[in-house]
Amino acid sequence: MGPSEQDRSGDGAMRAAGAAWLLPAVVPVIAVAAIALDGMPAWIVAAGAAATAVAAALALGGRSPASSASAQPVSAAPAADPAGDLLRRAIEVRCAERTAILEHLADAVMLVDGHGETRFANAPARDMLGAAAATPGTRGAVESLPPQVLRAVQGVASSPLGERRRIECELRNQDQTPVAITVTAVRPEPDALAAIVVRNVRAEREADRMKSEFVAKASHELRTPLSSLRAYAELLADGEVADDAERTRFANVILAETARLGALVDRMLDISRIESGMARANFESVDLSALAEECVDAQRVDAERRGLALSMGRRSAGAHAVADRTLLRQVLLNLLSNAIKYTPEGGSVSVEVDLDNLARSVVVSVRDTGLGIPPHAVPRLFGKFYRVENHEKVAKGTGLGLNLCRNIVEATHGGQIGVDSQVGVGSRFWFAIPLEQAGRKAA
Ligand code: ADP
Repeated sequence: MGPSEQDRSGDGAMRAAGAAWLLPAVVPVIAVAAIALDGMPAWIVAAGAAATAVAAALALGGRSPASSASAQPVSAAPAADPAGDLLRRAIEVRCAERTAILEHLADAVMLVDGHGETRFANAPARDMLGAAAATPGTRGAVESLPPQVLRAVQGVASSPLGERRRIECELRNQDQTPVAITVTAVRPEPDALAAIVVRNVRAEREADRMKSEFVAKASHELRTPLSSLRAYAELLADGEVADDAERTRFANVILAETARLGALVDRMLDISRIESGMARANFESVDLSALAEECVDAQRVDAERRGLALSMGRRSAGAHAVADRTLLRQVLLNLLSNAIKYTPEGGSVSVEVDLDNLARSVVVSVRDTGLGIPPHAVPRLFGKFYRVENHEKVAKGTGLGLNLCRNIVEATHGGQIGVDSQVGVGSRFWFAIPLEQAGRKAA
């Protein structure tokens, strides 16, 4: 071994010694990254940690803080070490990637020791708990979390690697943010480490609440027609209705209620298919002016029966969109039948099709001179099962039609739906389908 080789191996030994003091600092970061990347093989973590420590040591010239004051350079001009440089750069890139992943996670991630002292906290942890609480070297993070978290940290210190405890609780902040906290053992005793991942579950809780509310409302809506079906069917079955005309009337009520139940169930299924992403739209080139005229014709008898003037107003040429014809027909028929339902005799209903060149969309409007909608009801109008109070007396309905329209227009066609209305004057329901849709190839 020549002198220069000896120098290099001596340098390597120093670097390795330097690496040792860095290990506790970098292993946790890599370990947490591995947890965040769930499923990363253990050898990558180990290799990454060791390599990172070596790289960090190399970057610092192989000196620990304690030795840096006294350590002398091995030679005035360090020997070129292209392989080491390459390794260092590769490891630095890898380290930066891991840090970026950790810092950009949506969840708060912390690494704490068995006493609850923070070793590492990412940006969401600092946002969630406050920068002061999440300061490394303090117990601020666990102390700002509910006490069961510290118990879990102490518990996992003596647990096998990878053991997890899950805690659902609320943060002690102003909004009382509901969170799911996972505490995982990432390094065993004597220098035990646990990773704490805190996830904000407010959106999930809200989704659960909305699902329960939907089921409750749907059950209520189903029960009402079912009760009247049962009552009329019982009267007929008991033979208590002697009069033929009365029997026919009861049978017709049963038929109407059955149709309403069927419509309710169909709408619920249509909405859930769109919301769950299971509905497949059949896109084709659709002339919205022609479609509007077709729908007006389909509703003419109904309108006349109710003493209303139904007309096709402005119809722009070139109002073509690549859309699902059946679904848009459903939207138009629903808006038209609502306009007819909620407009008193003698009123009028009209449909217009315009091009909005600025927004590059086709705008279809259904205007009526009906009851109108009070301002407080407008924000809830397109929700599920919402009906304007007093309108129930005017006409039967499911309170799901407009919600289905919104799903079809916004979720399926990327459009927009809305209403302008004045009580006692009338309403204009409109929907806009982007003209860009027309650029899409028909399936
Ligand atoms: P429904 O089957 O009850 O008509 P929708 O979801 O289609 O269900 O409409 C929800 C509610 O919006 C209706 O119950 C009614 O109160 C109100 N509404 C809808 N369209 C009109 C309209 N053109 N004029 C006045 N109110 C309307």
